[in-house]
Amino acid sequence: MTGVKKTGGKNAGSEQAKPKLTEEKTADMKETNTKTAVKQADIKKSGAKKAPSKKTAAAINIAAAKRTAEKTASKKPAFVPDKAILAKGAELVARLKTVYPDGECQLKYEGEPWRLLVMGILSAQCTDIRVNIIAEELFAAYPDVYSMAEADITKIEELIRTCGLWRGKAAAIKGSCEIIVEKHGGELPSSMEDLTALPGVGRKIANLIRGDIFGFPAIVADTHCIRLAARIGFTEAGERDPYRTEMRLSEIIAPEEQVTFCHRFVLFGREFCTARSPKCEGCLLADICCKNL
Ligand code: SF4
Repeated sequence: MTGVKKTGGKNAGSEQAKPKLTEEKTADMKETNTKTAVKQADIKKSGAKKAPSKKTAAAINIAAAKRTAEKTASKKPAFVPDKAILAKGAELVARLKTVYPDGECQLKYEGEPWRLLVMGILSAQCTDIRVNIIAEELFAAYPDVYSMAEADITKIEELIRTCGLWRGKAAAIKGSCEIIVEKHGGELPSSMEDLTALPGVGRKIANLIRGDIFGFPAIVADTHCIRLAARIGFTEAGERDPYRTEMRLSEIIAPEEQVTFCHRFVLFGREFCTARSPKCEGCLLADICCKNL
């Protein structure tokens, strides 16, 4: 019994056909639901997840970061940016976009997260251009995290000798790759805690990874960023501390802008607001900069 009322008249044929159609539709839906359930069970079993797009992942991460920020807001030492400084931050972001529309990472890691980690380690007191050159030969010799973890450290030292601090960097590269293989199954971890537990990895590199690879809002407080933030007036004049700079900028720069902002800020620091001779005359930030030189 379908529970459908029997009706007479000239439309009786079509009305009578309805129960059958409903039954077929219900059967189809059941089959679809069963297929979906089986598919979900298979996904669960294999541990596989449908990877969200980079944009979606970034949006999710930003939302999660906002929730965490709201939860921990009461515990944070308060730096509450006023409207004027937020407006100045937004203006800075907008102006840098006009000069550097791409806002991309200058390290050529070819979409391989572990390579960005290695290049981040290599970049300490070394230019991005040199790191890109060294990395080419290094990754040709050790093309994945497993081969790097097993590499002869003296061979790594030889390959990176021209980038300075090579002995310590070689140890950090090999040590980090070993931990990634042994503890994280060959995949780069995403948490600040796990990343900074890797040898040679501090908050600067961890934020680079979290921002560029995982799409989290992240301020990379490198030497250019620290210098410019102080000169422009986001931090105290002469501020040298990377953590304080990171904390300040993370409150001033909109979360969804932070990753590309940092790449643009570095380029601007290299080309215009250099350590030794800032080009204040004609600078596109002249009217909003405190010029704390
Ligand atoms: S005005 Fe001078 S100090 Fe300020 S951002 Fe431009 S170059 Fe740097």
